[in-house]
Amino acid sequence: MTTRFPALFVSHGAPTLALEPGPTRGFLAQLGAGIGRPKAILAISAHWETVAPAVSAAQQPETIHDFYGFPEALYAMRYPAPGAPELADKAVQLLAAAGLTAHAVADRGLDHGAWVPLMLMYPEADIPVTQLAVQTALGSAHHWRLGEALRPLRDEGVLIVGSGSVTHNLREFGRHRYDAPPPSWVSEFNDWLHTTVVSTDREALVGYRARAPHAARNHPTEEHLLPLLVAAGAATPGSRPQRLHAAYTYGVIGMDAYRFD
Ligand code: ZN
Repeated sequence: MTTRFPALFVSHGAPTLALEPGPTRGFLAQLGAGIGRPKAILAISAHWETVAPAVSAAQQPETIHDFYGFPEALYAMRYPAPGAPELADKAVQLLAAAGLTAHAVADRGLDHGAWVPLMLMYPEADIPVTQLAVQTALGSAHHWRLGEALRPLRDEGVLIVGSGSVTHNLREFGRHRYDAPPPSWVSEFNDWLHTTVVSTDREALVGYRARAPHAARNHPTEEHLLPLLVAAGAATPGSRPQRLHAAYTYGVIGMDAYRFD
């Protein structure tokens, strides 16, 4: 019998999360041990955007340093986890069965949205990982469907990890100190999101852009929230989502994490 793994959503913040101590780093460092060891991981990062669904079939995904102007030590970091081409194939099949045409990409590595949290969660880097892309232009309902289609993987020992940010306005983040409290337009949105996620209100969550206060200001573009929709879609109907962690950096970057069973 294989244990059913949850689907998670984590906020990855700035790439320096890999280097600098802080509450979210501490939270992620204990998260893997709390979840247990999956057979494989399917990561959905905000930093791989494609027109149509795509999954990495790399045998040995490279560590992609997709950020600029950060400390040298970050560029030296590697997350040498093996790839999961069989899981990628299975994901493509499940998506096809749900009417979602996806393709496998042979040489796609792991971007920092995937490897930074995984390096903290599973530092041994010995669990096979594949990455699923987001299709920002297709919006929230599409991403919920991706999660729903991939839900059966959880019964096969696969941990689904969405990685983005609950609030993510990079135009405004330079105006705040690292430890600044959130302005009301940030906390009102995030409080709405928390209530909506834990009350399993699919319609409200999928419609967040029209319904949530200050949605477009917190997500000028949607790619950092869409991994949450995938994780929420992968939840078993009737289960109770939990917020595992809540924090802000620079006042406007929410670092919350959720668990979907
Ligand atoms: Zn990011």
